[in-house]
Amino acid sequence: MNRKTRNTKTKEMVMSTLSNSDSALCHEDIDKKLSGKIDRVTIYRILQGFCNEGKIHKISGDNGKTYYALCDNCSAGNHHDNHIHFRCMSCETVSCINETTVTPKLPKGYSVSGFSLLIFGYCPNCLTC
Ligand SMILES: [Zn+2]
Ligand SMILES: [Zn+2]
Ligand SMILES: [Zn+2]
Repeated sequence: MNRKTRNTKTKEMVMSTLSNSDSALCHEDIDKKLSGKIDRVTIYRILQGFCNEGKIHKISGDNGKTYYALCDNCSAGNHHDNHIHFRCMSCETVSCINETTVTPKLPKGYSVSGFSLLIFGYCPNCLTC
């Protein structure tokens, strides 16, 4: 297998891990799901690449971790993921909530390049058991 094929394969593995999950995943989750088949640095680089390509977006958790989730209709360098994210305090999953938000009005002189809103509480799964 040449280098390029291997790169494509590792990228596919990371992508399918993300698309098979119903919630956003942090670096550790992806690492665990791939059970060490790809080294951490490579995973990190692939995730960065996907972000730049507009395939996934980052979510900063209130726990200091960064989560990654698939984008809906973004393109390279043009993310418009202004939806809400929810972090469950019990199972710690982070999910994209399909509700768009309006960026709050800011005082004059501020330039906005992104907006993130994280809500925390308990997810339906945790509430039913
Ligand atoms: Zn996006
Ligand atoms: Zn939960
Ligand atoms: Zn999202």
